[in-house]
Amino acid sequence: MCRVKIDRCTTIYEDWSFLLTDEHILKSKDEPCTQNAIKLLYLLSGSKDYFSREVTDLPINNATFELLLQTARESKSIDSYTHVGVILQVLRGLDVSLEDFFKLEIPVEFMESLVTPRILLRNTYACIAPWCVSYHKPGSLVRTATSKKEINSKVYNYYMYCNECGIEYAIDSTDRQLAERGYFINLGWDIIRPLLLKGTMRKKISIKLGIHQDTVRRCSIFLYANGLIKKEYINIDIPDQINPDKVVKLIKYVESGGKAKQGPKEFGWSYPEFLFYWFQPEVRKALLKRIIPKPGRESNHEKRHLSVLDALDHFLKTGRAITITEIGKYMGLCSETLRLWGALPFIKEAKQQQRKQFLKERNLKIIKEARAIIEKFKNNEEKILSDSLYQMLGVNRRILVRDSPEVNAAISKLLREN
Ligand SMILES: [Zn+2]
Repeated sequence: MCRVKIDRCTTIYEDWSFLLTDEHILKSKDEPCTQNAIKLLYLLSGSKDYFSREVTDLPINNATFELLLQTARESKSIDSYTHVGVILQVLRGLDVSLEDFFKLEIPVEFMESLVTPRILLRNTYACIAPWCVSYHKPGSLVRTATSKKEINSKVYNYYMYCNECGIEYAIDSTDRQLAERGYFINLGWDIIRPLLLKGTMRKKISIKLGIHQDTVRRCSIFLYANGLIKKEYINIDIPDQINPDKVVKLIKYVESGGKAKQGPKEFGWSYPEFLFYWFQPEVRKALLKRIIPKPGRESNHEKRHLSVLDALDHFLKTGRAITITEIGKYMGLCSETLRLWGALPFIKEAKQQQRKQFLKERNLKIIKEARAIIEKFKNNEEKILSDSLYQMLGVNRRILVRDSPEVNAAISKLLREN
């Protein structure tokens, strides 16, 4: 027998021995049917982080490929399993053993691109720095590895920065709005710049706005460093132009983990000169790149949490009811996997947030309707009793008192006043 044939027989023997072990048979029963299809598509996409349709030399026909895609996305009307024949056909074609196939861990980014190709948040938000070439144009935001932080009792998640101007952003978890992480737009550009252009001294600005003088100085240097104001308006001893060698030097310093605090001493530059280089977009981007999730470097744990937060963001944004099963379906995972990922606390929190939002909207609607009904009775010179009012509203008063006592109080007040 020739060598190739022997190898082939060995592969077939090994594959089937593996498939028929008790341990594997037990395990495969719990495996959600989408998982095998996702794994095959991952291998067919060249084991890259993003799903691609541009596959050359497919070991299966196009119809089977489409079928795998539908199974992976759960877009078929009935659940189906991927036939072992298809699995083996792909694996043989790509020279991957069955054992390796079952051990395969799929990057979250891949599942994200496969199952939710339309909602990568960084593609739905755009830079809001008025001077940036990507102002209001989606596509320039890059995500960092920071996923969730609480600042001044507000929760921010999904941290990003603009790959053009280097401004940092995060999403405010309450109103889903993009918020600047810092103050160069809201304070520097919007407030301090017009004052400087009017000739107001920096000291006066800090008194007027009740902010620290250093903040005004930092904003002024930022504006100048980014070409947003002329030197004569900021009155700081600072270089007239950029020395590219110094920018390169600082980028190297940043890339090797150098901190801003030690910077001026390290280079022998004055504080304003250091800030002038520190605020160059290229330096800022080098700094932010240190916290970019790099494949392999970022822990699986972090990646998984980020992808769950993405899914929750989508549900909150679109008002789709959050349940573990729904989130699982959306991500192509089973509930057990989400539990193992430690995602339940995130889901629980988002669910509560959604419920609060739902109650808020419902309550406003109830009060509006109650007011309209009372008004209608009043116009007919009639008085409505509270029991009839609740009946007309179709609301169980006992439950309302338990869930939203303030609404019950508001309705009682309306009834008393009329
Ligand atoms: Zn920008």
